[in-house]
Amino acid sequence: MDSAIYLAVLFLYGVETTLHLLFLCNIIFSIWNRHIVWWKHFFNFSIYSIMIISAHYSFLWSGGIQSSESTSMLPFTVSLTVYFLLNVLLIWMYFILSQSQSIKETLHSYFSKGVVIESLISYGSTLVLSIILTILLKEEQFFGLFLFTILSVLLSFAFQKFFELFKESEERANKDFLTNLFNHGYFKLKLDETYKSLGSNETFSIALLDIDDFKKYNDQNGHLQGDELLRFIGQFLINKTKLTPYTPARYGGEEFAILFPDVTKDEASVFLNKIRKDFNDTPFKGADDLPLKCLSFSAGITEYEPGTYNSTELLNKADKALYYAKAQGKNNVQIYYEEADVYQNNLYLVKEIENLEQQLQIFLPKDVYTYQHSKRVFKYAMDFSKKLELSDHEKQTLILGALIHDIGKVEIPRDIINKKGKLDPHEWEIMKKHVLWGKEIVSTTKKYEELLPLVELHHERFDGKGYPSGLRGNNIPKLARILCLIDSFDAMTTERPYQPTKTFSEAFAELRRCSGSQFDPQYVEPFIEVIQEKFPALSKKERLEEEPKQAAQ
Ligand code: GH3
Ligand code: MG
Ligand code: MG
Repeated sequence: MDSAIYLAVLFLYGVETTLHLLFLCNIIFSIWNRHIVWWKHFFNFSIYSIMIISAHYSFLWSGGIQSSESTSMLPFTVSLTVYFLLNVLLIWMYFILSQSQSIKETLHSYFSKGVVIESLISYGSTLVLSIILTILLKEEQFFGLFLFTILSVLLSFAFQKFFELFKESEERANKDFLTNLFNHGYFKLKLDETYKSLGSNETFSIALLDIDDFKKYNDQNGHLQGDELLRFIGQFLINKTKLTPYTPARYGGEEFAILFPDVTKDEASVFLNKIRKDFNDTPFKGADDLPLKCLSFSAGITEYEPGTYNSTELLNKADKALYYAKAQGKNNVQIYYEEADVYQNNLYLVKEIENLEQQLQIFLPKDVYTYQHSKRVFKYAMDFSKKLELSDHEKQTLILGALIHDIGKVEIPRDIINKKGKLDPHEWEIMKKHVLWGKEIVSTTKKYEELLPLVELHHERFDGKGYPSGLRGNNIPKLARILCLIDSFDAMTTERPYQPTKTFSEAFAELRRCSGSQFDPQYVEPFIEVIQEKFPALSKKERLEEEPKQAAQ
C-alpha cells in the first residue's frame, strides 16, 4: 500500500514531493515502532529513496510525463519494474550481509518457497493500485487521497487480522495439543523439505526418542499423570532446543523426534546424551518408582548419506538404532551404522535380547547385583564377540547366553544371595546349584536350547576343577569357555560381598595368572585387548576412582 502511494505521488507530483512524503512517513513509523533499532529505520529509508529516485528516472526515460493525461502503460510498467527489482536486490543484499547467508542460500530460499509468484502478484497489484490512486488524485485531488488512505488502512487492518487467523490455524494444524511440540505430520513435512533441498556438501541428522517404561509409569500413576509427564517432556524438549535450529516433535504416543539441520550424527549424539543426563536428573512425581529409578529415554540417530532413497529410509534407520538402544538396556543413545554393527541390523537378535531382558527383571526386587552383572557381561560379550572368529550364529548364542547365564540365581534364597561376608560351605553348595537351576529354567523354552551349555557350564574351569561336571580343556564347549572368562572379569572388577574389588589392571594380571588353569589361554590376551580398547582410561588406572560397573553400563 505504501508503495502504491509513493508511486502515485511520484507520477503526479514528482520526485521531490515523494521523497518528502517518504521522510514524513518514516518519522511517523519510527515513532510508532520505537522498539525497532534506529539503523533499520535508516536502512529502510535509504532503500525506499533509491527505489523512488530510480523509478522516477526510468519513468521519464521511458516517455512518462509527470501529471500528464497520457494513457500509455509503458512508463508506469517500466518504472514499477525498476522499483521492485531494486527492492528485491536491496533486500537480498540485506539478508546476505546481516544473516551471513550465502548468495546461493538466499536464492534457494527465495525460489523454493514459491515467493516469486507471490511477489509478482503483489507487485502487479501495487502497479494497478498506484494507477488507480493516480487517477483518483487527478480527478478528486485530496478527497481522492483521503478515500484511498481510508481504504488502505481498512484493507491492511483486515489483511493483518486475516494473516493472524491464518497463522493461528496453521500453528494449530502443525502442533500437538498435549505437548505443544510440532506433530508427526509437520515433522515429516519438515524432514521431506530438508531432505529435498539438501545441497551437495550439506548434511543433517534425525533422532527418534522413546520414553523408557512409560507403560509402567501409566500403570503406576494413572493415565492423567502420564499425560502430565508427556506435557512436561514437551516443555523439556522445547527448552533444550530453543536456542538451536533443531526441530523437536511428538512423533507418536510416547515417542519424539528431533530434526538436526547441518548436524552430524556424532554431534547429535553428544547433544542427546547431554539432555538425556539432564532428564535423568530431573525430579518428577513417580520417577523414583520406575525400573531405572529416574526419568529416562532411549534414542536412535541417523545421518543423511548421499544415496539415501527417501526420508522414510532415514526414519527406518533411526528406528532400528532406537530398537537397538532399548536392547542395550534402555537409557542410552545409539547411532545407526550400516555395516559396522551386525547386531544392530539383526532384528531377531534385538528382539530376543529384549525378551531375555524382560525375564531378567525378575531379579530387580531381590537381587539388583545379578541383574546389573548380567547386563554388563552381556555388553562385554557383545564387544568381545566382534573380535572373535566365530560364526554369526555362535556370536548370537554367546551374546544371548551371556545375558541369561545367571538366571538360575533366582532360586537362591535372599539371605544367601545378599549375604555380606563370606559364604559358609553349605551356602556355597547352594550358590553353585544356580547353574543347574538355570539349565532347568532355560530348557523350558525350546528356542533357547542352544543357550543351555552357556548357562550350565560357565563355571567349568580349563584345568577341570570347575563345576558342575568338572569338564576339562576342549571338552568344555568353546562358548562356555569364553563366557567363563568374561563372567570372571566382571566378578573381579565389581563389588561383591565375598571378595574385594580389583582395578581393571589388577584383573588383567589375575586373568593372565589363571590363563591355562581357570581360563582357556587362547582367549585371555584378545579379551584384555578388547577391554583396553573400549575402556582405555580405566585400563590404565592402578586403583579405580570410579566404580567399573559405571563404565560398563
Ligand atoms: P519401552 O521402555 O520399551 O519403551 O516401554 P514403554 O512402556 O515405554 O513402551 P510401550 O510401547 O510398551 O508402551 C507405551 C505406552 O505409552 C502405552 C500407551 O498406553 C502409552 N501412551 C501412548 N500415548 C499416550 C498418551 O497420550 N497419554 C498417556 N498417558 N499414555 C500414552
Ligand atoms: Mg514406544
Ligand atoms: Mg517407551
